[in-house]
Amino acid sequence: MNEEPTLRVGILQGYSEVAGRLNGPFLINDALSLSGMFRACAREGRILLADAAGHEIIHEKEVSCTPLDNSTFTLLDVMIGKNFHWQRKQEQTFRGELRLILDESDKLVAVNRIPLEDYLSSVVSSEMNAEAGLEFLKAHAIASRSWLVSMLGMAGKAVHGGNASAGPDQKTKEHIRYYHRVDHTLFDVCADDHCQRYQGISRPMSDNARQAVERTRGLFLFYNNEICDARYHKACGGLTDNFANTWDGVTVPYLTSVPDSAVPYDPIRTEAEARKWILGDPGAYCNTKDPNVLRRILPSFDHETADFFRWKVAYTRTELEDIIREKSGVDFGNLLSLTPLERGPSGRIVRLQIAGSKRALTIGKELEIRRWLSRSHLYSSAFVVCAENDKSGLPVRFILYGAGWGHGVGLCQIGAAVMAMKGFMSESILKHYYNGAELQKLY
Ligand SMILES: [Zn+2]
Ligand SMILES: [Zn+2]
Repeated sequence: MNEEPTLRVGILQGYSEVAGRLNGPFLINDALSLSGMFRACAREGRILLADAAGHEIIHEKEVSCTPLDNSTFTLLDVMIGKNFHWQRKQEQTFRGELRLILDESDKLVAVNRIPLEDYLSSVVSSEMNAEAGLEFLKAHAIASRSWLVSMLGMAGKAVHGGNASAGPDQKTKEHIRYYHRVDHTLFDVCADDHCQRYQGISRPMSDNARQAVERTRGLFLFYNNEICDARYHKACGGLTDNFANTWDGVTVPYLTSVPDSAVPYDPIRTEAEARKWILGDPGAYCNTKDPNVLRRILPSFDHETADFFRWKVAYTRTELEDIIREKSGVDFGNLLSLTPLERGPSGRIVRLQIAGSKRALTIGKELEIRRWLSRSHLYSSAFVVCAENDKSGLPVRFILYGAGWGHGVGLCQIGAAVMAMKGFMSESILKHYYNGAELQKLY
């Protein structure tokens, strides 16, 4: 890859009808020019595109609208039919090409074809607070760019698959599951949180975000002549974890555990070490409770809590029994114990044994544990369990003391932002989290 790739972003899917506005001249299917309002719907297995007056413009399998000059297009909030995935409450404006296609059930899909760098400016701007330091945004732009191209296999690298399986049956003793992003078929990435939130140019772009992408244009993280699968998460809790503990058991050298601090910490090896680490308050880049710092990093900080570095969740036994039964479909009877059998170097539990009066089951990996033990998701699987028992020895309450937010692999976003505030440059920040990775400019 030696030139900027073009990305296909799925903007709308599952619509019976799409309405919008071409803000300036567009070339329709390389044949005719159109501007102004338009409507599109499925008709006889093809797409019927009509202009503002309702006159048919084109009736084809696919419709591509290529901007002439610097025209942009706007999609309006039209939802006829029941199959839409999510509700749009505002108009969305985009740069680049609009392509309308039909999915298998003859519903409309609107795809925006856009150069990678334009896409990144929008994503960095909408995912990160513009106030976060420029060096942090630059580091994030390089990581996002690398992850994206690696994930899409644009540079010819194979992507590891997930191990999707049904829920555990009665006889299973182990239920180990990990998740990968489900690939899209009609486009590369969607505009939703499932991939990365993308709103085109609907919102004013922050100067910092634009600069961060421009100044790192074409820069990728490399390891062994391959673009890095640069994973990131919210907060590691003081130590990052290994790729193999979250996804398939492959060792990825640049995604191995590092202490998130200027002083070294040993990786967690035993339950005693895990308890001491998680119940402690070690100095780390992501160990910050300063609301001014957090407000500058997290776009929606005011709605979030600041207790992600060390956190606590308490359940009554019956409450936790209900949650586990709801989330897993497994009835353990009376819940007797939660026992970590294997942890990663960050303290995250990889295999957890759940024992009840009716059965026992070992579950993993970290995301499955976080899903089963919370109505939403636990912040992380790095936790220690304290059970309070009644006189008969039956637990009445389970208290989980935990550390960190997210899978803990790769770049720690809070830590990286704090490093930038301390004066570290983007390259040092990236090399801190991605062991042995180097920067390389491809275009
Ligand atoms: Zn997606
Ligand atoms: Zn961290």
